[in-house]
Amino acid sequence: MTLLEGSVGVEDLVLLEPLEQESLIRNLQLRYEKKEIYTYIGNVLVSVNPYQQLPIYDLEFVAKYRDYTFYELKPHIYALANMAYQSLRDQDRDQCILITGESGAGKTEASKLVMSYVAAVCGKGEQVNSVKEQLLQSNPVLEAFGNAKTIRNDNSSRFVSEHLLGLGQEEALKLERDTGGYAYLNPDTSSVDGMDDDANFKVLQSAMTVIGFSEEEIRQVLEVAALVLKLGNVELVNEFQANGVPASGICDGRGVQEIGELVGLNSGELERALCSRTMETAKEKVVTALNVVQAQYARDALAKNIYSRLFNWLVNRINESIKVSTGEKRKVMGVLDIYGFEILEDNSFEQFVINYCNEKLQQVFIEMTLKEEQEEYKREGIPWVKVEYFDNGIICNLIEHNQRGILAMLDEECLRPGVVSDSTFLAKLNQLFSKHSHYESKVTQNAQRQYDHSMGLSCFRICHYAGKVTYNVNSFIDKNNDLLFRDLSQAMWKARHPLLRSLFPEGDPKQASLKRPPTAGAQFKSSVTTLMKNLYSKNPNYIRCIKPNEQQQRGHFSFELVNVQAQYLGLLENVRVRRAGYAYRQAYGSFLEREGVEKVLGELSMSSEELAFGKTKIFIRSPKTLFYLEEQRRLR
Ligand code: ATP
Ligand code: MG
Repeated sequence: MTLLEGSVGVEDLVLLEPLEQESLIRNLQLRYEKKEIYTYIGNVLVSVNPYQQLPIYDLEFVAKYRDYTFYELKPHIYALANMAYQSLRDQDRDQCILITGESGAGKTEASKLVMSYVAAVCGKGEQVNSVKEQLLQSNPVLEAFGNAKTIRNDNSSRFVSEHLLGLGQEEALKLERDTGGYAYLNPDTSSVDGMDDDANFKVLQSAMTVIGFSEEEIRQVLEVAALVLKLGNVELVNEFQANGVPASGICDGRGVQEIGELVGLNSGELERALCSRTMETAKEKVVTALNVVQAQYARDALAKNIYSRLFNWLVNRINESIKVSTGEKRKVMGVLDIYGFEILEDNSFEQFVINYCNEKLQQVFIEMTLKEEQEEYKREGIPWVKVEYFDNGIICNLIEHNQRGILAMLDEECLRPGVVSDSTFLAKLNQLFSKHSHYESKVTQNAQRQYDHSMGLSCFRICHYAGKVTYNVNSFIDKNNDLLFRDLSQAMWKARHPLLRSLFPEGDPKQASLKRPPTAGAQFKSSVTTLMKNLYSKNPNYIRCIKPNEQQQRGHFSFELVNVQAQYLGLLENVRVRRAGYAYRQAYGSFLEREGVEKVLGELSMSSEELAFGKTKIFIRSPKTLFYLEEQRRLR
């Protein structure tokens, strides 16, 4: 490993001197310009998207990284994958690989590289091979259904796929080949240069077969996806009831007819479900007509619901199939590709929950990094050095506290009888958190005892670890409620289509009297909690992905853009925590060869504070000392 700052910068940011935000970014830039896209912070991997195929992923590289330990070769994603894999195999520790970064930063590519590395080095044998195949094939399937072209990324991990419109299938599904014909497919973004939809569709089909989907299952999945597209084309129009009350209806019956045939649904029933809403009180049922805007909202909510349930079903189905092939007792290596901290011009409920998740991830990250350091010091028998760091528990609490957190307040508002609105919710927050050090709004005072006039009246602001974010409360209540009108889930449950029907178990009238499903916020919080438990029980490995420019262009490094991301990822804080104790450590063996050890060090009259001799390793506190030693070695 290159220790001295040279033309490619330092390979480990822990060795950066001086350590500042600017030098950190410059170091990444220097390396990026030399096509060195990987840099370490201790055992964390920072990866800058090259936007070009680099010749560093072939089997030769696999073989190289497989035979060396972490620091012996240049930083590489294979080194991280190898470390995780070896720890799984030799120490029997379940692993989790956490990949974060913003859209287009390279998370999904990184997760594919990790999986293909593990697939390449893990054992052989029939069973292993079939699991391997299933794992690798799960990618095209999830991508086909989970990805879409967005402005920020041609292959973004999102919803709605276009590969569905593949060869030969449009006949059976009664789909049009021209993607422009579907309201839910964005005509500007539906084609990607260099992507062949027909070929991709074949890949998708064969991948599903390898994973173990039956032909019947594949057909049903495609039918449900086609249903979503068709729903988007159902046109709703204004109608009026006899008494002049606005109502809505379906403009052209053919679309609904087709949907009916596709999934075995009575088209009259579907129309009723889309255009009216049944309210149930203890005594009676009241059916009210929806106006055209409400009906459109219901239609889109239904489509989104079907699609996300289908996607979840696919993920579960794939996991099941892999579980069956691996048997019960197994070691786990989870690869988590998760959306990073997000600050848009207008931030709403979605950004709020995403940033909450990132706040929690940051907490785990700091806690686990410190814990790992502590454990290593203990193992090596050297005294622990106290580390000062920013504990973001206070922000996590502000959001998630069971009774007094923002999410709890939102739920309370959603479930409270009487007139509730986004503004009553905000008023409540303002009242409760007026003195909270990480909460601000127009009517609360900041630390300098000033009112903030830069913020809209309908906004509140949270000072996250990564920076301040202003959220607009408009539609928080609606989004949290996320209620699919019962009429719709009941209509879906009545379909004769087995898969579709199974996606809407709550549509079963026998279930109808069950209590209200949990709110979106509560569901999100509970999955974040599960995720955290999962992480704490595994050995975490981190990959921090960075997008170098907005144009998806190779060789282009925007300092400002990277600067912001480095801030959101908390890279500087990461380096600080990492080197708060000892910046550098190395096993005696290789260190001996380099430096000639204790005796030499004694001769150099080093300060005892700078060094600690562990059982198997030497620890050096500051990079300066390390550079000094390296310098001495070169001079001799
Ligand atoms: P999103 O959050 O939108 O899903 P993402 O972080 O998953 O984004 P990717 O889809 O992994 O981003 O990467 C975007 C594009 O960048 C890829 O389609 C690929 O062209 C390019 N890319 C990313 N990483 C690499 C890499 N290591 N080598 C070559 N190209 C890469
Ligand atoms: Mg992705």
